[in-house]
Amino acid sequence: MPTYLYQCQQCGEFEQQQAISEPPLDRCPRCGGAVHRLIAGGTNFIVKGRGAAARHCERTTPCCGRETRCDRPPCGK
Ligand SMILES: [Zn+2]
Repeated sequence: MPTYLYQCQQCGEFEQQQAISEPPLDRCPRCGGAVHRLIAGGTNFIVKGRGAAARHCERTTPCCGRETRCDRPPCGK
């Protein structure tokens, strides 16, 4: 399944695995806020591995947008 990149107003960017046939999320699975997909579906998706998720979490701002790292992927394991 491809991994899509979403932008949540509360949590910031996150990745969500979805089948190509699934409609894009309009609600954040963490906070329920509005999200929009950064990468269009169809053939233009990017599949990311564990390495990409780890780098995603090493930014100065925690990946979930809170002051401390959360326990959920990609912050935790
Ligand atoms: Zn959120």
